[in-house]
Amino acid sequence: MIAILLGAMLAPPVICIDPGHPSENGVGTRGRFLTELEVCWQVAVKLKGKLQADGYTVVMTKSSMGEKVTNKRRAEIANKAGAALMLRLHCDAGTGRGFASYYPDRVGKVGKVSGPPKFVLESSKQLAAPLHRAAVDVLKEHLPNAGLKTDRQTMIGGKQGALTGSIYARVPTVLVEMCVLQNSKDEAFMRSKQGYEIMAEALRAGVRAAVPVKR
Ligand SMILES: [Zn+2]
Repeated sequence: MIAILLGAMLAPPVICIDPGHPSENGVGTRGRFLTELEVCWQVAVKLKGKLQADGYTVVMTKSSMGEKVTNKRRAEIANKAGAALMLRLHCDAGTGRGFASYYPDRVGKVGKVSGPPKFVLESSKQLAAPLHRAAVDVLKEHLPNAGLKTDRQTMIGGKQGALTGSIYARVPTVLVEMCVLQNSKDEAFMRSKQGYEIMAEALRAGVRAAVPVKR
C-alpha cells in the first residue's frame, strides 16, 4: 500500500492534450490561410514534445490530425489517463482578437447527462488562472490577452451550462482559444515563422504554472 502511494506521488503528472476537432461540432473555423484543425494539431505536437522533455507524461486525444473524436470521448480519454489537466486547444471565429482561456464554473447538461462534479469545477478554476496568466505573459508581444472566462461565455456552454467536454470531465479541464483565426493580425502571428513555436512555449509555461512537475 505504501509502495503504491509512493509510486503515485512520484509518478510524473499526466497532461492530456486535446487538439480540437474534428468532432460532432465539425472541423472548426478557418482564417484566410490556416485552418483551426491544422493549427491545433501542429501546436499540440510541439507542446507534447516540450512537456515530455519537462518530465510530464502526455496523452493525446487523437493520433492524427484528421481523426474524428467526439467531445465525450475526448473527456473519457483524459479521465481514463487520470490526467492532472486536460488542455483543450482551439482557435476562435468572429471579430475579437487574442488568447482566451475557459473553465467550467457550474454543472451543465447535455442530453440526460449532468456534469462536471464539484471537484472538477473547483480544480479547473484553480488551474485555469495560473495557466492563463503564464501563457499570456509569454504571448504579450504577439497577441492580446482576451481574458480568463467561463464555459458559459462560449456558444455551446451558454446553452448547456458547460461545454460537452467539461460535462464529461472527471479531471480538471481548461480550454484555450489560442487566437481568433478570422482576425488577420492573429492569423499573421500564427503563420509567422515562430508562431506555432511561441504558442507551444506559452502553453508549456501555462501547464508548468498550473501543474508543477514533482521532483
Ligand atoms: Zn474549435
